Amino acid sequence: MTTRFDFGFKDKIGWVPSRDHVLVAGGAGFLGSNLCRRLLEGGAYVTCLDNLETGRMSNIERLLRHPRFMFMQHDIVKPIRISQPVTQIYNLACPASPPKYQIDPIKTFATNVEGAMNLLNLARDKGARILQSSTSEVYGDPDRPEQREDYRGNVNTVGPRSCYDEGKRAAETLFYEYNHQYGVDVRIARIFNTYGPNMDPDDGRVVSNFVVQALSGKPLTIYGDGLQTRSFCYMSDMIDGLMALMNTEDVPEGQAPITMPVNLGNPGEFTMLELAELVRDITGTHLPLTFRPLPKDDPLQRRPDISRAKAVLGWEPKMPLRQGLLPTISYFRRELQRMPQHEPE
Ligand code: NAD
Ligand code: UDP
Repeated sequence: MTTRFDFGFKDKIGWVPSRDHVLVAGGAGFLGSNLCRRLLEGGAYVTCLDNLETGRMSNIERLLRHPRFMFMQHDIVKPIRISQPVTQIYNLACPASPPKYQIDPIKTFATNVEGAMNLLNLARDKGARILQSSTSEVYGDPDRPEQREDYRGNVNTVGPRSCYDEGKRAAETLFYEYNHQYGVDVRIARIFNTYGPNMDPDDGRVVSNFVVQALSGKPLTIYGDGLQTRSFCYMSDMIDGLMALMNTEDVPEGQAPITMPVNLGNPGEFTMLELAELVRDITGTHLPLTFRPLPKDDPLQRRPDISRAKAVLGWEPKMPLRQGLLPTISYFRRELQRMPQHEPE
């Protein structure tokens, strides 16, 4: 059943926007809510669509008072029609944390595939440009230290991460084909691990786990031997990259078209033991580490090659991990004060 929204900003300000109306699917989540705020600061009208599966109203509480912001509770797996013009669509709707996307793997797959298709149909209807938040997970457990966009990956089709990884890979195919078959103007960002304010303390990803554990005086949980690596990008760098990709028209000679995937991430690579040490150091704690089994198919290494993003967008991250952890830790400290009975996993 199609959900039809005849909303507008008229209820709020007596006027319906005819341009720069940006739809952010997944706008109540970590990245989505930060993106909504930045879009509003840039003067756009913003509609946030979210089913609140992992997103939180507290992330958009302040934005709700903004005259150019609308929130619609909607699941993208259901088709959507909007009567107002839409110029740009960001698809950020999908749980990103492994323990969250593994709660209902079939739903995760549907969100990635059917949800993406519904948004692509909307983009086609509206003549809107649409950006897909793809992921470094399309490379799976990579067999090379640095992953470039032309690497095809090493992904298990039948494992606990497959619903997410394969869902995201299928979504890239849909974006590619909507561009080829229907001329929809698409962008595909392959996002590498990103952290920062507005992450849910219960999210389950490594940065939020370590910081919440350190602030609560609990041992830091290392999965496996802690020697696996990730490359961590601070939120504001990622939002800059996503907006740059959305708003770039042309590529320099020798580059694949702008509609083809672009890696966005911070190439600084850390083991989980190094990350734990940084968190303990910044928070001034000497908490023990506790070792747990490595989840199945957990990638051993991950580092983006961002030469394409540099060449095409003139983008590269500015925030080193230590510096980005400072506002992140302050944010989690405030969150834990807001919910004092919070118990880390
Ligand atoms: P998040 O879980 O905080 O946000 C996802 C948002 O999507 C939530 O608000 C959730 O309620 C909403 N959502 C989920 N399923 C939906 C559905 N069917 N319909 C409508 N809304 C739905 O995650 P995040 O870290 O903000 O990630 C945002 C996007 O970026 C995701 O698509 C994720 O796959 C991608 N990504 C994130 C990272 C990262 O490190 N943060 C890395 C790679 C890719
Ligand atoms: N991890 C960990 N302790 C935690 C949570 C995660 O050691 O409390 C590890 C996890 O096994 C993985 C890495 O940290 O190797 C990054 O995990 P995350 O869930 O943040 O992201 P992803 O695996 O999707 O990159």
